[in-house]
Amino acid sequence: MKRIKSLALFCGSSEGIDIRYRKAAEEMGDLFYHHQVTMVYGGGNRGLMGIAAERLYTNGGRVIGVLPEVLDRSDVRLRTVEERLIIAPTMHERKARMYELSDGFIAMPGGVGTFEEILEVFTWLQLGLHSKAVALLNTAGFYEPLVAFLHHAHEQGFIKAELLDALIIEEEPARLLERIDAFSVQLGDKLS
Ligand code: AMP
Repeated sequence: MKRIKSLALFCGSSEGIDIRYRKAAEEMGDLFYHHQVTMVYGGGNRGLMGIAAERLYTNGGRVIGVLPEVLDRSDVRLRTVEERLIIAPTMHERKARMYELSDGFIAMPGGVGTFEEILEVFTWLQLGLHSKAVALLNTAGFYEPLVAFLHHAHEQGFIKAELLDALIIEEEPARLLERIDAFSVQLGDKLS
């Protein structure tokens, strides 16, 4: 990758029921290593987050985990990356730290924590607070219902077409990273 040095990976603290989610998390770990991209993530050992981080770390790649104090427990931390953990005082500071450290943002399949994190950075893109890529890894079509809902909100006059067009959605991890590296958009006044 030419421009991207670090990416935040938001992903489920569960593995989900389809084996393709786990495989995608492993592939993400491999691709980050291949491209020498630092993975900034939630710091936990559970679900897809643990799988992607562990895979990258055991390959010899760079991982930065950012945990809030409230989750700083030995049963939550990913032991292998303990020395790369940043402990943030609150959930909000944790997210701010993850955003500062990242050149772009990816949501893998996940639950409300994942949705909240990716939609927050998407909102900030809308407001012109940053111009970093925001991307959905659409493994096994996981994000189709959310994408349909975003289009519904657009059709109902709540989301501008420019913002929807800026959202990167890809099923193939390698293609997703290519598009993130090529991403360039300056939203802001136009949208807010
Ligand atoms: P969810 O999608 O609801 O499973 O939540 C996953 C997201 O919320 C991750 O990207 C993390 O940033 C955060 N999160 C949720 N559970 C944990 C946990 N046990 N340890 C660390 N981060 C977590």
